Amino acid sequence: MRIGIVGAGILGLAVAREMARAGAEVTVLDKEDRVAAHQTGHNSGVVHAGIYYAPGSLKATLCRDGVAMLREYCAEHGLPYDEVGKLVVASSRAELPGLRRIAGRARENGVPGIAELDGLGLREIEPDAVGVGAVHSPRTAITDFPAVARRLAADVAASGGSVRLSHPVRGIRERAGAVEVAAGGTVFRFDTLISCAGLGTDRVAALAGSPGEVRIVPFRGEYHRLAGSAKSLVRGLIYPVPDPRYPFLGVHLTRRIDGEVLVGPNAVLALAFEGYTWRDVSPRDLGRILGWPGTRRMAAAHWRTGVREVYGSLAGSAFLSAARRYVPALTAADLERTGGGVRAQAVARDGRLLDDFAIDVHGRIVLVRNAPSPAATSSLAIARHIALTVPLPKSI
Ligand SMILES: Cc1cc2nc3c(=O)[nH]c(=O)nc-3n(C[C@H](O)[C@H](O)[C@H](O)COP(=O)(O)OP(=O)(O)OC[C@H]3O[C@@H](n4cnc5c(N)ncnc54)[C@H](O)[C@@H]3O)c2cc1C
Repeated sequence: MRIGIVGAGILGLAVAREMARAGAEVTVLDKEDRVAAHQTGHNSGVVHAGIYYAPGSLKATLCRDGVAMLREYCAEHGLPYDEVGKLVVASSRAELPGLRRIAGRARENGVPGIAELDGLGLREIEPDAVGVGAVHSPRTAITDFPAVARRLAADVAASGGSVRLSHPVRGIRERAGAVEVAAGGTVFRFDTLISCAGLGTDRVAALAGSPGEVRIVPFRGEYHRLAGSAKSLVRGLIYPVPDPRYPFLGVHLTRRIDGEVLVGPNAVLALAFEGYTWRDVSPRDLGRILGWPGTRRMAAAHWRTGVREVYGSLAGSAFLSAARRYVPALTAADLERTGGGVRAQAVARDGRLLDDFAIDVHGRIVLVRNAPSPAATSSLAIARHIALTVPLPKSI
């Protein structure tokens, strides 16, 4: 059984490892010269405990399973995994009903150790934070997702598979009981092809002759970081009560495994699929993004939020005001701009941002169409889900 996988992000590599362990001959193809070059290498590094997601959704079940699998994997391989804990903080009484809903959801999803705290209680966890109430998730953790991805790639190689970097997939053709894939000057023949291409999903789907009913819209998430001694003002993870209209969690304060504390990410429409800064503009990508009716409908429905996010990005004000809402001792001098990531978020034709993970099967081709946060957390469980439930040829 020959299985081809597009994408050497954490998801493609987790799928490759799962298939290689089941005895398949696995080849991972990625256009970049390193693993984890895109979303996997540009995120907050949070192992989400499964608090927010609609009970019964793929996100809810695969996040809970994924946390357990990732925790064990990190322990087994000596990879960093630190349960620093998370507070979701209501900064006004108006946010308390939303906070209660989150606590209820977290319990329904079986998230361990959830506690509801008042303003005093939250300061026992984060002495420099303020709020009128909080939900505490003590088991929410941080890790190093690129290190996990590199370890997964090593596992794939150890099971006899190969990870071919600098191999952009340029052609896909299903014929004579196989899928032919042109990449890096070679034509590979696979029994099944699985696409985990993140921001490149639509291009791979189009090559496969299955453009589908959703399109990827790139939302950049920019970060600032706390400078010098200001880092000591945040022990773990401090999040706002999210706006239920969006799948993004809002600008938060995140302690990272390397000791940095990030403030972010915001969510602005990127001007290219890999648009990491305002200077990255691709007329071709923009034509595709704006040519999708869903993007225009989404923009019409949410333009006020969009304008606010763009202003906050350019002025940097979104970061300071969000950070000070939860940690008032912070000043403008404590924040400095740092990098960002671009989320691959699927948007439906009617303008709806797809909330759940989405996986499609088209003949011998499996297409992961939507794998935004918490897909890094859930990657090992998503891989098992694909191996168990997607109709792959029988011997897997
Ligand atoms: C700002 C931000 C913050 C986030 N925070 C978190 C968090 O704290 N916790 C969490 O669990 N999740 C988080 N996420 C989400 C998480 O990073 C992603 O869900 C996850 O990394 C998806 O992994 P992936 O392998 O599908 O995608 P990617 O890592 O993007 O990998 C896709 C790969 O496909 C390759 N590719 C694309 N097209 C082609 C082609 N034609 N040929 C060959 N290769 C191709 C790319 O080069 C890339 O390496 C965050 C994401 C962002 C952007």
